[in-house]
Amino acid sequence: MKKQYDYLIVGSGLYGAIFAGKAYQQGKRCLVIDKRPHTGGNIYCENIAEINVHKYGAHIFHTSNKEVWDFVSTFVTFNRYTNSPIAHYKGKLYNLPFNMNTFYALWGVKTPEEAQAKIEEQRRTAGITSPKNLEEQAISLVGKDIYEILIKGYTEKQWGRKCTELPAFIIKRLPVRFTFDNNYFNDPYQGIPIGGYNKLTDSLLNGIEVVCNTDFFENRGYFESISDKIVFTGKIDEFYDFRLGALEYRTLRFETELLDCANYQGNAVVNYTEREIPYTRIIEHKHFEFGTQPQTVISREYSSEWTAGSEPFYPVNDEKNDRLYQQYKSLADQESHVIFGGRLAEYKYYDMDKVVEKALEMSNKMMK
Ligand code: FAD
Ligand code: UDP
Repeated sequence: MKKQYDYLIVGSGLYGAIFAGKAYQQGKRCLVIDKRPHTGGNIYCENIAEINVHKYGAHIFHTSNKEVWDFVSTFVTFNRYTNSPIAHYKGKLYNLPFNMNTFYALWGVKTPEEAQAKIEEQRRTAGITSPKNLEEQAISLVGKDIYEILIKGYTEKQWGRKCTELPAFIIKRLPVRFTFDNNYFNDPYQGIPIGGYNKLTDSLLNGIEVVCNTDFFENRGYFESISDKIVFTGKIDEFYDFRLGALEYRTLRFETELLDCANYQGNAVVNYTEREIPYTRIIEHKHFEFGTQPQTVISREYSSEWTAGSEPFYPVNDEKNDRLYQQYKSLADQESHVIFGGRLAEYKYYDMDKVVEKALEMSNKMMK
């Protein structure tokens, strides 16, 4: 007998919303459910005092993939926001990512040659030839001083693990430049949707049946019975009832305040890189959209280990977890009615553009 839906989409984040939007366009019958009280997943924004507050952490869209950029740009227009975070360490400020401004502030070096010589000297002293972990990778990229001032404390707060126990790829995300360029990303396309991220997910889901406050696992049998296929964007280990063991995640706590001042820190993102300050960064949301409101909203971000009941924000892609994920993936590969997609179901530290790319790829494959 024909089931009520072609696709049940579990999760209305970017992956779920894109898949649903593409399927709906092709005339498929879709139901989207989300356990949160709203759609959009982690890119959801809450309006506080006319400011779009990134409720689940600061989100800056950036990509090198023109197809991805063109796709999202059909739903929203992006502003010219360029991410240039400031790092705060023991009362001093430094520019990020690591570039000539950082090197000058730290060592007084004025030319790329001087900066490179300084890094080379520190790399040689540390005796690292082929970096095996985040610490070695960081020292070999930027030297010991930068590692100790701008990386070690922040990373250990963010991941709750020693830098020697973390994979090198985490730090390779950040550019190292020998030019005076504070742009955090190398990608040619970057910005924040004008009108906020909700506009993007609302447009993708326009016309589709969506039910919030609904957890797939609370009524699993029913949900499995009403749809031909399931697109699952939640935690893959939870889908299998943790039968092979639990994957590790980091969760975040945001302490958000509305302040009666127009401009608190003069920048959207200030990272606190010293270990002694318990939060990793303070986000001042209005600066993502060049806001001129009389008040401002800031969020202090605290990172800790995920436990049941909290939000899983970051997969911990170390060897142990990646091995366990591969075992879950072998189970997932045998499913003919379930598609696993997105940051939690693929257990990958994906940025938004990668999620868009993956969701487009999968929906194109399924709609062929
Ligand atoms: P999610 O957005 O997590 O959506 C999954 C959805 O599934 C959620 O809404 C959840 O409630 C729902 N769900 C889960 N389980 C169930 C269930 N059992 N039943 C019903 N619903 C369920 N990327 C960038 O490109 N730039 C950035 O600046 C950036 N900053 C980030 C900052 C932070 C703090 C974090 C955590 C991530 C950041 N990212 C950034 C990454 C970005 O958030 C993700 O790439 C993207 O949002 C992932 O989309 P998704 O659909 O895979 O997952
Ligand atoms: N990082 C750091 N110091 C900083 C910013 C980042 O050491 O001031 C490291 C840290 O390990 C972090 C990684 O670089 O987890 C990636 O940073 P990114 O800003 O890409 O992290 P996200 O925005 O995903 O949290």
